[in-house]
Amino acid sequence: MALIYVLKEEGAALKKNEAIVTFNCPVQANFDFELESVRTCNSCGGQVIRTESFSCLPVDLVPGGSVQDSLDQYFKPCELEVRCQYCGGQQASVVQKFQSLPRVLLLQVKRFNYNVRRGKLVKLQDQLKISPDLNLGTHSVTKVQPPRPMNWQDLSSSLSQRAQIHKPSGSSDETSRHQGGDVPSTARSQYKISSVVSHIGSSINHGHYVSDSLDGSDRWLSFDDDIVQERAQEKVLQKRGDRAYLLFYEHR
Ligand SMILES: [Zn+2]
Repeated sequence: MALIYVLKEEGAALKKNEAIVTFNCPVQANFDFELESVRTCNSCGGQVIRTESFSCLPVDLVPGGSVQDSLDQYFKPCELEVRCQYCGGQQASVVQKFQSLPRVLLLQVKRFNYNVRRGKLVKLQDQLKISPDLNLGTHSVTKVQPPRPMNWQDLSSSLSQRAQIHKPSGSSDETSRHQGGDVPSTARSQYKISSVVSHIGSSINHGHYVSDSLDGSDRWLSFDDDIVQERAQEKVLQKRGDRAYLLFYEHR
């Protein structure tokens, strides 16, 4: 997980390099999204609205639940003890929603929890029903911004660039997004599973990581070091239920 933050830092450094003016950070382009957080005072109804950028969502395991259940739990309104700037009230409720959507939603399943009694991180082996599809519509603002379509030309020029290239005047950069228009947010918020990274082992200090991914021909391939095998999607989702650690869902 730390790798995507390292890549973002490297990307930010490359953007500052005057010789690489068109570099598009792949983490930012593919994984970043914004959440709007609305805090409402329980006494006077006064609201504080904030928008924050994220690259992944850490979700809890819901006993007997699916990925959609874990996601729904993440977005459940919560109560907070905080002093209201308008009336001095001490209680507020907080609701978070997607303001913009990522091309690929990365979910980190919280399988490593600190156990107070044992004084260490322990791995949760709970079964997770890996949903093949996700809908973020109910967790999105009405006019949520969909992800910008993939621009392979931009990406290849970023990766192969050796000399200074000036952008034509009036061209847009990666931070500009097209508007959602009047398409309902549920129709714009459909995702399908494209990759699963699993931790095989009983603790955080021991084990092995394997990954299962869709290739360009809609085949699922399982990667275990130098062993690559083709598998049916339903078998992958069932087999990885008690060990999935990272889940990648592509916008469609
Ligand atoms: Zn208040």
